[in-house]
Amino acid sequence: MNLPKLFIERIEHQLGQHNLPLFVAAMNQKPIHAIRIHKAFSPLFQSLSLKQVPWHESGFYIDDAVINGQHPYHHAGAFYFQEASAMAVVPMLDIQPNDLVLDIAAAPGSKYTDIASRLGPQGFLIANDIDARRAQTLMFNIERLGLSQAIVTQHDPHHLPTLFPHFFDKILVDAPCSGEGMFRKDPAAVSAWSVEHVQTCATRQAYLLEDAVKLLKPGGRIVYSTCTFAPEENELLIRKFLETHPAFRLINHHLHHQFDAKTTQGVGVKLWPHLIRGEGHYVVVLQHQGAPSKPIKFTHRMKNPMPPAWIRFAEETLSNQDFQPNFALDERLFQIPISYQYHSALHTLRAGVYVGDIEKNIFYPSHHLAHNLRIQDVKQNLNLTLDDSRLNRYLQGEEILADIEKGWILISVDGLPLGWGKASQGRIKNHYPKALRLLNTRK
Ligand code: SAM
Repeated sequence: MNLPKLFIERIEHQLGQHNLPLFVAAMNQKPIHAIRIHKAFSPLFQSLSLKQVPWHESGFYIDDAVINGQHPYHHAGAFYFQEASAMAVVPMLDIQPNDLVLDIAAAPGSKYTDIASRLGPQGFLIANDIDARRAQTLMFNIERLGLSQAIVTQHDPHHLPTLFPHFFDKILVDAPCSGEGMFRKDPAAVSAWSVEHVQTCATRQAYLLEDAVKLLKPGGRIVYSTCTFAPEENELLIRKFLETHPAFRLINHHLHHQFDAKTTQGVGVKLWPHLIRGEGHYVVVLQHQGAPSKPIKFTHRMKNPMPPAWIRFAEETLSNQDFQPNFALDERLFQIPISYQYHSALHTLRAGVYVGDIEKNIFYPSHHLAHNLRIQDVKQNLNLTLDDSRLNRYLQGEEILADIEKGWILISVDGLPLGWGKASQGRIKNHYPKALRLLNTRK
């Protein structure tokens, strides 16, 4: 790999002459691939005997030739591709089930989806991103993983403190950065690199941290991370932050001992590709010293009468009647988290589970609902195995056959929901979303 000379000099300054060749050799290796398992560990993963990422209970290294985004388990939301080093960040937030959490720069959602799976129903989680297109990708990921703790907003973080002053227990600032740690994966980051770019990023990161301070409750925690080695964007920035914010102190998380604190002089830790199996990353835990305020107890505020179209669908389709929408926006039904408080000034792209739409008094279930349910929640399920030819045909959007008379069917692979089908005398009309369908190579 052709690394900029100035970049190499700066790395040598951090690592010393002796370690530089190890770093350069690691940068010339292939990037490391990993996944975070989201749904029950399934036979495929066992048969592959994957090696665990040492700092994440659900993280596993993969050979990208064996599992890719086309795999039916990926369509089912069984796993999420996440860079192994990036998996170190969310455990350091120490999420508690009832926490109020903000992911300030969340798209495409690899850390957000990890936070969401650690929260309980009383928890509150906003995933914000400034970029509309990236926020859409985040929503696709939320649907695929069937997450219900999904409040997606699109704001310049600078607007958020007036809406949520000192509100959150935990804030993740996974900052946009110069991306030095991603050079092996993304050659474009190498050509875009310059010291000026590092400086621009550092200025933006300082503003982001100031916004986070205004959003954090007394006694709350900010985890700040980047995928770069540049000291200006990492330990130097945080050192300055600590000097100007005496209410904060550094926390030494128990995961820190797996990483390097020498090159940061103890201000956070760096993940170097020649020392661990992963790409480059930096992470630091900033704990506010104030006394924590009393937790907020949320209650359901919205009690819309259930639309008859939903009641009919639920009676015909669901065996578990506990699941109910609790919010209607025109003809769209949602199950929003009980903690969600409506804010007219908040540009909300998604709140909770988008359950489906009512058209001409008929309810049509959404893809998000399919992934939020379990197969035991429905009356009719067609569970396919990996070697069933109907599986690929379903994912390609084709009609398939099954011994089912009529009604909505939840199609699944090895027990993991994939999407909906609608039966009519043994023919299953395909309701797998067009945008997600596999390409049919036989056509
Ligand atoms: N946390 C994400 C994840 O784990 O998938 C990755 C976040 S990425 C490192 C940084 C994000 O910051 C990008 O999605 C980008 O759109 C967003 N961003 C860019 N400029 C920003 C700004 N000025 N304020 C806030 N976010 C910004």
